[in-house]
Amino acid sequence: MKDVPERSVTPRMREEDIGFETSVRPRSFDEFIGQQRIKENLKVFIDAAIKRGEALDHVLFCGPPGLGKTTLAHIIANTLGVDIRVTSGPVLERPGDLAAILTNLEDRGILFIDEIHRLPRIAEEILYPAMEDYQLDIVIGQGPSARTVKLNLPRFTLIGATTRTGLLTSPLRDRFGVINRLEYYSPDDLEKIIIRSARILRIGIDRDAASEIARRSRGTPRVANRLLRRVRDFAEVKGSGRIDRDITVMALGAMEIDERGLDSMDRKLLFTIIKKFGGGPVGVETLAASIQEEKDTIEDVYEPFLLQEGLIERTSRGRVATRLSYEYLGIEREGELF
Ligand code: ADP
Repeated sequence: MKDVPERSVTPRMREEDIGFETSVRPRSFDEFIGQQRIKENLKVFIDAAIKRGEALDHVLFCGPPGLGKTTLAHIIANTLGVDIRVTSGPVLERPGDLAAILTNLEDRGILFIDEIHRLPRIAEEILYPAMEDYQLDIVIGQGPSARTVKLNLPRFTLIGATTRTGLLTSPLRDRFGVINRLEYYSPDDLEKIIIRSARILRIGIDRDAASEIARRSRGTPRVANRLLRRVRDFAEVKGSGRIDRDITVMALGAMEIDERGLDSMDRKLLFTIIKKFGGGPVGVETLAASIQEEKDTIEDVYEPFLLQEGLIERTSRGRVATRLSYEYLGIEREGELF
């Protein structure tokens, strides 16, 4: 066993993912699998905006990384037939940066801000009048002689993406007309995504192999696509080149991804809560220090999936391992027999 856990299955972006993601990223609603209700609603709002000749209302996407927030933003732009400017919260440090982007948008164009919960306060305040009235308040001069000049902006749609709605201020959240929470995908939908990606990348794969990868992809398309590539590596080096179920099971086992899609970091996290902190509650900072992982990664990536699987619970005093988690790791709870 490695000391440093394999992290390749987590839904974080890596350099090598970028080129791959562009090739398999769906470009239209028809290609975008799952999230049916969100898709249907968006199509209605887009049609209505086009009919009225208006900009689409501002849209917020929330949910763990790798579920398709960026993809949907691009699909919306494609469907509307407008340009999209892509940026992210943390890079908009200087107020001038955001002002420059806003003034350069085309009429009814889209501004996509990823990680919008990390937008600096000052940039957020620029957004309020921009979102509400397509206006930019510019302060000219300093001290008592300073005055505010209003500048008209093009009509535009802001699409925000966040992994953490809880960190968004309510004035900002309230200015979005459409708020969508993306859910983890079902194994059926993930299987379709894997088969589609395999077709685009010309990878030969059996259906039962695709469904095995799907079951272990933690409900996340980005993970599904990544596992597909890793299993392909195994198929090419240790198998016939084609992905069948046997090579899939072997590859996933070698990557320490278990039946539920949990990897060694998930297990380490559960094990630490139970063995080191008596099952919890334990604060996320303490946990992060203890397993040597970033707090944000725990909160964005590991925790939402473990919560959804019922393996941990979040209480006001910290994270607690559930009974299921003891069973999963085969550890007895003190004073309890099962
Ligand atoms: P997020 O912005 O939520 O982190 P992305 O939009 O970047 O996620 O999606 C990650 C990758 O997963 C995309 O490049 C795309 O290939 C794939 N993907 C996401 N959602 C879907 C979907 N519904 N159907 C097919 N592929 C998807």
